[in-house]
Amino acid sequence: MPPVTKPGQDRYDYICIGGGSGGIASSRRAAQYGKKVAIIEVTDRLGGTCVNVGCVPKKIMWHAADIAEKIRHAKNYQFQGPGIGSPQFDWKSFKPQRDAYIRRLNGIYDSNLGKDGVEYHHGHARMVANDTVEVTRSDGSKYTLAADHITVAVGGRPTIPSDDKIPGASLGTDSDGFFDLEEQPKRVAVVGAGYIAVELAGVLHTLGSETHVFIRHDKVLRTFDPTLQETLTNWMEHTGVHIHKGSNVTRVEGQKGAPLTLHTDQGEKVEVDYLMWAIGRHANTENLGLEELGVEMDKEGNVVVDKYQNSNVKGVYAIGDVAGKALLTPVAIAAGRRLSNRLFGPEQYKDDFLDYTNIPTVVFSHPPIGTVGMTEPEAREKYGDAVKIYKSSFRALYFSMVDEDHKEPTVYKLIVQGPEEKVVGIHMIGLGSDEVTQGFGVAVKMGARKKDLDDTVAIHPTSAEELVTLR
Ligand code: FAD
Ligand code: NDP
Repeated sequence: MPPVTKPGQDRYDYICIGGGSGGIASSRRAAQYGKKVAIIEVTDRLGGTCVNVGCVPKKIMWHAADIAEKIRHAKNYQFQGPGIGSPQFDWKSFKPQRDAYIRRLNGIYDSNLGKDGVEYHHGHARMVANDTVEVTRSDGSKYTLAADHITVAVGGRPTIPSDDKIPGASLGTDSDGFFDLEEQPKRVAVVGAGYIAVELAGVLHTLGSETHVFIRHDKVLRTFDPTLQETLTNWMEHTGVHIHKGSNVTRVEGQKGAPLTLHTDQGEKVEVDYLMWAIGRHANTENLGLEELGVEMDKEGNVVVDKYQNSNVKGVYAIGDVAGKALLTPVAIAAGRRLSNRLFGPEQYKDDFLDYTNIPTVVFSHPPIGTVGMTEPEAREKYGDAVKIYKSSFRALYFSMVDEDHKEPTVYKLIVQGPEEKVVGIHMIGLGSDEVTQGFGVAVKMGARKKDLDDTVAIHPTSAEELVTLR
């Protein structure tokens, strides 16, 4: 359905600013309770970061890379035929196919809003009072919408250094630009050490680009458990990713569309065809009217909220990435739904809120990582000597047939504390960890002890069984 171009109601019960993971989930839940709801999205594509330039196209690219690996391994499994062992990926043909799928998803989000009766407005939203939002359409026309409750769900965007700070920085792109690439670059540089850097560098390298990763310290994923940092950094290097450690890019020379030369503070000069900054993201809170309203924000520009997602201004809430905590789609969705439950749902939900502890998360690296709960340093800081570590390093059975050089590591680490050996952290890297983590996330959330894992009969032959047989 096309977006509406003027208010359909005198006053709404609820308005969500931002048609991404959080805004869509929250607005639909409110409408399902029979409320009059409007959602405002500035781009012409519903679904936000996750659908358009995040989780979904990223995971599709990860699958493509995974298939490339399987084709390489196929020769060890004695598959014969042209191309076996040396995959050729046709990026140019694949991208439009991927884009078409995303466009289908955009349409599904649109029709779901329609089904639930959420009024969809297309334009830039700006708060002009704690109960009023001004919508500016692409033709410059404006109108206002009013509601008792307004949720800010505007997400964030990639951070890129300024040209003042790093001359030539703007010759590079970011993860949004990655999804616009029409052809596979031959040589790439990725700056950063977090989720996006390792995931997209992993895809590019596995699909055959010469890949350079520039990190400020000596490991990737430094906020993760040290075992994961070490295992992934070592394996990336083993597979041929050039990790430039302790390295800061100081200058970029070249021209858009032509080779670029990166200069680092280590005196290196590296020539690449494509540069991507993956050094973090920041909230889209500029030009939203929040300062004028007195909405409290932290120094990074995230809206400060309490456990109920309330900002300091009555009737104004924030969910998802803009609230600056656990920047993950299911977190935005869960916080948004719970907020609508609390505001508009039946009595049983009057105290509903999202508990941000023990949120499981996966990094789609090669091999993938799954983690829930505390890292070892966090557990030791909190529980001291009461912490005990169980750990297992092995090769998944799948790799038994694969060349020695390509046998990916699997490492599982269980962190328990106290005489009852309560599980406070599980960290996994290795084939299948992405799918295994969800179930173990349930166990940790339920307060599982090591004994509960031991009492669970293993499923054989899997990698996951190692977690219930650790000694
Ligand atoms: P968003 O989804 O960003 O939605 C915000 C919406 O608000 C946008 O559509 C924006 O256009 C709109 N907007 C902004 N300002 C205005 C305004 N003034 N008026 C109207 N509309 C406005 N998370 C995972 O859980 N798993 C993953 O595998 C994963 N992979 C990712 C990969 C990448 C490359 C990136 C960048 C992110 C990934 N994430 C992943 C994170 C995930 O995408 C975000 O956590 C999630 O999208 C946040 O949802 P949100 O609703 O807070 O914001
Ligand atoms: P992250 O916060 O994960 O990582 C950015 C990293 O870049 C930092 O940890 C830092 O590592 C490094 N960095 C920061 N500033 C600089 C700098 N100036 N120069 C060089 N390196 C720098 O951000 P991402 O952009 O990777 O991702 C944003 C968020 O999106 C993630 O935190 C995650 O919540 C979400 N996401 C989730 C995914 C998933 O669920 N699979 C996938 C992708 C994103 P160091 O301090 O070691 O230098």
